[in-house]
Amino acid sequence: MIIAIDGPAASGKGTLGKRLADHLGFAHLDTGLLYRAVAAVLMARGTPLTDRDAAALAARTLDVSHLDAPDLRGARMGEAASVISAYQPVRDALLDFQRQFGGQGPGAVLDGRDIGTVVCPDADVKLFITATPEERARRRHLELLRRGEDVAYETILADIRRRDERDMTRATAPLRAADDAVTLDTTDLDADAAFQAALAVVEEKRRKT
Ligand code: C5P
Repeated sequence: MIIAIDGPAASGKGTLGKRLADHLGFAHLDTGLLYRAVAAVLMARGTPLTDRDAAALAARTLDVSHLDAPDLRGARMGEAASVISAYQPVRDALLDFQRQFGGQGPGAVLDGRDIGTVVCPDADVKLFITATPEERARRRHLELLRRGEDVAYETILADIRRRDERDMTRATAPLRAADDAVTLDTTDLDADAAFQAALAVVEEKRRKT
């Protein structure tokens, strides 16, 4: 079974994806980390993010064994990832890995921007997780504070709006809900309620198949 979870920055899809995967005994891939890792390679080398060829090469030769590196999760890397993820050759280079990941048994949860639309269009369950930009900024602010990054709320809100705009308007694999996705607005839901709502969608699908 493949569960595809898409949604904008800081919508809580990563936390939800991990929790669903743990609960179901499935593998979990936060695909944003792949794009963050490509951006990290360029930044470590001092290569401008506008160098599309270098970005494509970094994606093709990406070492996926260090996706748990804590520095990938910072705000700067998210912004950088959103720049290089708009390049088609970068996306193409990361596609096979994501599809193979989705093929493992007994199941996999992948979260990102284009999982239900491009990476796994035949996913068994598609969820689109969203919340208002203000609520997402509030959550991301708390998360960064907990990790010791003291970034102003207004800065985070501006970053989220800019990333939403870039991710939704890019020509290649723009962020959008798949036609057959179930949309969950988590603005007024805490993590537990979001998990229960998502699990109910998965269980219903399992009952029907
Ligand atoms: O989800 P996360 O914030 O870690 O993603 C970082 C950036 O990577 C996003 O803003 C988006 O531009 C890009 N991304 C993408 N497709 C995915 C996952 C992430 O384009 N499947």
